[in-house]
Amino acid sequence: MSGRTCSRASCTNAAIKTLTYVYSDSTAVLGPLATYAEPHNYDLCASHSERLTVPVGWNVIKQEPTLEQVGPSDDDLMAIANAVREVANSDLNRASMPPELGRRGHLRALPSN
Ligand SMILES: [Zn+2]
Repeated sequence: MSGRTCSRASCTNAAIKTLTYVYSDSTAVLGPLATYAEPHNYDLCASHSERLTVPVGWNVIKQEPTLEQVGPSDDDLMAIANAVREVANSDLNRASMPPELGRRGHLRALPSN
């Protein structure tokens, strides 16, 4: 075990997750316990990571441990953020498209929901 404890005041439980605030993206990333401490990282115990709250307007990304068991890199976070943006943009494009354009003969594009 790491021997690290929850960073919440008056909590002495063992830390199992690390919360990282990405201020530039207004995003809080809850991931596996970081291997080293950083200024914007907060170690959280199981119960506090479950009850995590973030400021209004912020996003939360919860990362479950993967097979590789490594902490997120900046590239990983950017990939997640970009994937979310792409989905959001494609939804916007589809919503603004006139319904007629979705039909081409028998190849009719159905909305996903
Ligand atoms: Zn705690």
